[in-house]
Amino acid sequence: MPTPSPSRPAPLSGDGLAFLETPLNTLEWLPPLRARALERFGLLTVEDLLTHFPRRYEDRREFDRFPSDEMDHPVCLCGNVLKTASRRFQGYRFMFEATLQEVTADGQPTALSGQLTCRWYNVHFVKKMIAAGQRLVVYGRPRRRGRQLLIEHPEFEVVEPDAEASIHLRRITPVHPATEGITARMLRSWIHRLLANLPDLPSPLPEGLAGLPYAEALRAVHFPENWEALHAARRDLVLAEFFHMQLFVAAKRAELRLRPGHPHCGPGGLLEAFHAELPFPLTGAQHRAIGEIRADLAAPRPMNRLLHGDVGSGKTVVALSAMLLAVEAGYQAALMAPTQILAEQHYLNFKRWLAPLGVRIALRTGSRKEETALPLFDEQAWNAAVREGDEARRSELIKQIASDEPQILVGTHALLSEGVPMSRLGLAVIDEQHKFGVLQRAALSRGSAEADVLVMTATPIPRTLTMTLFGDLDVSTLDEAPANRGKIVTAARDASKLPDAIAFMKEHLGRGRQAYVVYPLIDASAKMEAKAAAAEFEKWERALAPHRCELLHGRIPPDEKEAIMGRFRRNETQVLVATTVIEVGIDVPNANLMLIENAERFGLAQLHQLRGRIGRGTHKSYCVLIHAADTPEGVEKMKTMEATANGFEIAEADLRLRGPGDILGTDQSGLPPLKIGDVLADTELMQLARTTALRLFAADPQLARPEHARFRKRLAEKRKLALAQVS
Ligand code: ADP
Ligand code: MG
Repeated sequence: MPTPSPSRPAPLSGDGLAFLETPLNTLEWLPPLRARALERFGLLTVEDLLTHFPRRYEDRREFDRFPSDEMDHPVCLCGNVLKTASRRFQGYRFMFEATLQEVTADGQPTALSGQLTCRWYNVHFVKKMIAAGQRLVVYGRPRRRGRQLLIEHPEFEVVEPDAEASIHLRRITPVHPATEGITARMLRSWIHRLLANLPDLPSPLPEGLAGLPYAEALRAVHFPENWEALHAARRDLVLAEFFHMQLFVAAKRAELRLRPGHPHCGPGGLLEAFHAELPFPLTGAQHRAIGEIRADLAAPRPMNRLLHGDVGSGKTVVALSAMLLAVEAGYQAALMAPTQILAEQHYLNFKRWLAPLGVRIALRTGSRKEETALPLFDEQAWNAAVREGDEARRSELIKQIASDEPQILVGTHALLSEGVPMSRLGLAVIDEQHKFGVLQRAALSRGSAEADVLVMTATPIPRTLTMTLFGDLDVSTLDEAPANRGKIVTAARDASKLPDAIAFMKEHLGRGRQAYVVYPLIDASAKMEAKAAAAEFEKWERALAPHRCELLHGRIPPDEKEAIMGRFRRNETQVLVATTVIEVGIDVPNANLMLIENAERFGLAQLHQLRGRIGRGTHKSYCVLIHAADTPEGVEKMKTMEATANGFEIAEADLRLRGPGDILGTDQSGLPPLKIGDVLADTELMQLARTTALRLFAADPQLARPEHARFRKRLAEKRKLALAQVS
């Protein structure tokens, strides 16, 4: 534990909260220039700086020995600079080298002291910072370059022979994320200084949850005495971070539940008629989900439910069941899809399924509006009127039909943006929610304040993330694939195996199956895209002749796109050569082959989505990934795809490869990025944080109790939420 030095000023205030809120630019020991740099870095208050957690730690109690050979992991070394050199270098504008002689942390030569060269290319500032005679701590991976052993672009720190050496050396030393104008060493000193003068701090956690006093946890996370102390401190801080995130989510949840609501649930006759007509029995999971949704629809409070199920798990049938319940109760139901192709597919399916039930349905997309002439009318009366030549009765019936609004609306975003009149909207379903932003979700529930909302996603996300991203929703999970699904076999092959793959495809096409060929877009400019697509298409058409191929990509006009999809659905074309426009939702059970070119360029989640287009019929399906993976990540991706078709396993592998940033990034999730928690490793803490936050909200929905004032305040700040809304 750092000992407070008597020369330091006393804490600014005995009040811990005021201390934490102190603006950094009022600290007299922090140069204004640096305070401004910190501000640009997003650190404004003492608390911001204290919760600017280390990125990693270096054990500077005992440095690694200088290596004698290449290593496969980074090392942390201490050495004196023997000499430096800078020169121009082939192919590089500028190169700088420093040769180090191994020493101990105190600067004493070690036994059998080794030497090593550090090298930087094209970074001029390093030359200004390093000079012969200095002592350096460097961190990086030693590699052999010809006969030399080098660390290229190591992280480094110059050891200053000042009074502060004890902060930086001979301890487990934190390395904080740094930025322009601020080094890790500066951050370490400043944070050390703040920690040395901490008043009592209010815990960021509710009573009884923290293992350590807050001040102690902060000290130990920045300057741990040992690894156990770090572990204990980290637990508290991760929990605190998750708790505040869950508080935010719980507030949203409470807010959603306060919207006025009505029951939107018919007695279920229409639903039964629909189910009786389906050519398959529902899975247990589908039954369960429909039951959960039905209870929500029947309740007088608004439904906010997520239907979560892997690709192909049969979400559409569940959605339509829900919509029929709302229709039967006299309301309209709308389904929103992220792409036009998908909206049209849903529309066609619904039309087919609903025709015998006499439900009026309309399609609304950006470019097309269609209403089926499927009047809900008395057929007998009509026939009688025609038979008896009763013109008056006939026109009365026609008028009634014309005035009848559609009961089910299917559309794209246009449904949201065009102010489509939905006077009696009772249920809104959002398909493939992950393709819509959180903001659109919000827009939808605003636009139809009293409607029940069902969002559907196939993004198989780990539980921790579900609790966070969709924590404001109730969740129904389809965890059971429909029976009689053919297996999907996945094989990753390098490009030299393409001819074999083509022969294999032709064999299956010859047996009446259909195929997708997917290629990545290399250049997204319209002209290039069309050209690349055309070239790509010719290649495939030739290779797969005599089977009929068609090309599908994003630049094809919508009507034509739908015509192409139609021919593929009816098996008039056997092969669809496509970009990722087919990624979402497309459902053609007879297509059991997929070949993905340059598969290494796609993300894992995307590959899984693409592959989800096959394996929808009873035939065994085959997915061939033609790839040129030469990075460890690329190879890992291919291996994962071969090894599993389980969306959750793939999602976890994806998170490991990409990091959670993409998913938990502010823009995507509407949530602040994590500073210390790990969404993959810290599941249990997230669960604890969630239960705690929900319980707290249940007990004190307005956070009105004095002991909750600090949470209320933080919440109000963090999401600029008027808590009045919640109360
Ligand atoms: P997703 O969950 O990916 O949206 P879909 O709703 O498109 O999946 O369903 C995939 C396919 O499975 C569709 O052809 C659908 O008709 C079919 N399907 C849905 N439920 C069942 C079931 N219980 N048994 C057999 N097939 C089903
Ligand atoms: Mg779907």
